[in-house]
Amino acid sequence: MRAVILSGPKKLDLIHVKNPESDGKNVIIRVTACGICGSDLHYWELGVGMDGLPGLIMGHEFCGMVHDPGNRQDLKKGERVTALSINPCGVCKNCMSSHSNICMDGLKRPNPGNNSPGAYAEYISVRPDMVRKLPDTVSEKEAALIEPASVALHAVTLADIRIGDSVLITGGGPIGVLCAVWARIHGAGFVVLSEPDVYRIAFSKEQGFFDQVLDATDTDINKKIRKITCGGADVAIETSAAEAGIQTAISSLKTSGRLVMAGISFRPQSVPTLTVTMKELTIKAAFAYVPSEFDLTIDFLSKKKISIEALVTSEIQLEKVQHTFEQFGLKNQKNMKVLIRPFIYH
Ligand SMILES: [Zn+2]
Ligand SMILES: [Zn+2]
Repeated sequence: MRAVILSGPKKLDLIHVKNPESDGKNVIIRVTACGICGSDLHYWELGVGMDGLPGLIMGHEFCGMVHDPGNRQDLKKGERVTALSINPCGVCKNCMSSHSNICMDGLKRPNPGNNSPGAYAEYISVRPDMVRKLPDTVSEKEAALIEPASVALHAVTLADIRIGDSVLITGGGPIGVLCAVWARIHGAGFVVLSEPDVYRIAFSKEQGFFDQVLDATDTDINKKIRKITCGGADVAIETSAAEAGIQTAISSLKTSGRLVMAGISFRPQSVPTLTVTMKELTIKAAFAYVPSEFDLTIDFLSKKKISIEALVTSEIQLEKVQHTFEQFGLKNQKNMKVLIRPFIYH
């Protein structure tokens, strides 16, 4: 099959590799769409996957059709499916207490697209109990967004939003926008975005995901947010993992405000401890999602309770992946979520 491998820093190669082998257990999925994630960009810059090794096939936000149902007798060849790209042990303290997203053994185990073959390929082999059937009412674009939407749902759930709360989101990438969607479902009264990228500012204004969109490069940004939230936001969800975003989130929160850190940076970022302590802020961190959040996302999409398809701004073939990653590094890139379509030829 054709697959894109990460062969070195900023280097992706389209090569032929052996198809995943049927073992009577795992489900083999013919990939129809796979999203490019911000974490994939980190791996691309470093040239290695989570295990520090080159040669990774990335891609953990995918959907497709059953090619081999493995031991899932309820699945038929050709049926539309997606899968959770996590691999919790199921027996550790965290797994046993509904926190399988932070399974104590989780990151050492094979995780598709992070340290074992992902979906930047024509086929992927996945753990059978992680496969989910896709309702007919969920489109291909939506299906590829279930994974990042679950990440956002997890962050918003931790934010403990109360009806009418003002919510600041720093970072207007796909996760930031998806957090806004869930924040509304949770009852947020006012949702404001702080984002530095011109394209992403325009995108969010046009799509109406937020009540207000502010330019993060504005030197008065913190003052403006405090003003429009009448003294400070109740909740901030930080998705940029950039120092400026973290500073804005902390400075713009009201006293006793709540911050959820959902962005991941591979480098340490500083936190203004004086402001944090003097405001007695509550800080939580969010990582990935639990299966019930993934299932709830599918349910909400199938019933049209959330509308997120607009986040997909382009679809590319495997041949274009390297080029697209290079574009992402440029200041004038014009994309939110890019989907790879391994079987669509133009
Ligand atoms: Zn992702
Ligand atoms: Zn575990």
